[in-house]
Amino acid sequence: MAKRDYYEVLEVARNASEADLKKAYRRLAMKYHPDRNPEDTAAEEKFKEAKEAYEVLTDERKRTAYDQFGHAGVDPSAGGGGGPAGGNFSDIFGDIFGDIFGAGGRGGSRSNQGSDLRYNMELDLEEAVHGTTVKVRIPTLVSCETCAGSGAKKGTHASICTTCAGHGQVRVQQGFFSLQQACPRCRGSGKSIPNPCGTCNGQGRVQEHKTLSVKIPPGVDNGDRIRLADEGAAGENGGPNGDLYVHISVREHAIFLREGNDLQCEVPVSFSTLVLGGELEVPTLGGQVMLKIPAETQSGKMFRLRGKGVKSVHGGGVGDLLCRVVVETPVKLSRHQKELLHEFDRSLKEDQGQHNPRSSSWFNGVKKFFDTMKF
Ligand SMILES: [Zn+2]
Ligand SMILES: [Zn+2]
Repeated sequence: MAKRDYYEVLEVARNASEADLKKAYRRLAMKYHPDRNPEDTAAEEKFKEAKEAYEVLTDERKRTAYDQFGHAGVDPSAGGGGGPAGGNFSDIFGDIFGDIFGAGGRGGSRSNQGSDLRYNMELDLEEAVHGTTVKVRIPTLVSCETCAGSGAKKGTHASICTTCAGHGQVRVQQGFFSLQQACPRCRGSGKSIPNPCGTCNGQGRVQEHKTLSVKIPPGVDNGDRIRLADEGAAGENGGPNGDLYVHISVREHAIFLREGNDLQCEVPVSFSTLVLGGELEVPTLGGQVMLKIPAETQSGKMFRLRGKGVKSVHGGGVGDLLCRVVVETPVKLSRHQKELLHEFDRSLKEDQGQHNPRSSSWFNGVKKFFDTMKF
């Protein structure tokens, strides 16, 4: 099924502000929220659609990518950036519904979802550009095997909490007000476990380390996030898992600086190569290439090597490598070498500045400047 335009889904203009988006999403979410439309798959689809649109458009990077490339720019199957699709409804719920339902009121059914985890991953530039697979070991709560996450001892069952009659919420009278609170006995689960499982003490979850193979798609950059759905902490009492978010940061590189999809580098070149021209071996992330330096090249000149940059994970073409050649002033010269330079300098001066058009015109400019100044 073709995806609808995100702005269309939220019924907002393309320049909608964050407040506009929030308002639009809140309206749709209130209408189509699964807790308000039980067993209504059409409403759930509408809710998911609105949620996805909201998540993408309120993320500046994703919104830019979407504006530029449409759904392909933010398609989770294209890798990186964290896919907006999926079934985790809880993550922005707190934000959106917190002020409507009050604290602790996410709307029962998903309250036992495990929390999302964050993993900070440092990559070398090469790994970020070419993609890689990294094994990560993360501490996490996993569903208890002994009781299959129920928290109840084998052969026994959880029963309905008698304090809240299974609602998970209790009403408390406070002065004139009647407040709804999570049940203190079952802590909102609505269940009580008369014979807790010995392995997890009735929690349904145990602390463990797990090793994951995280596939890093080529072209990721600083600040990109990769979402591994369901790899977060296990939910309480057999609830759904949270997600794992891998946050990418790229180490500084000895040679290259990344600017968007372009790479920049500075190449020291000898004075005589710049004067006479020549060929220069320059590094790229794909190996060495030859760069032709024309005769009479000035120091600081930038050469653009097309297609030797980076292809972003968010789509678009391959960037360029920008090589700036800078003259390296020779050091530790011998007396003889210095003499040669003096002689060379004298021979240039005999030709009255024709070898240095730039400094000649610069000095003329300075002269004019002083002539027009009125002291
Ligand atoms: Zn209870
Ligand atoms: Zn257990």
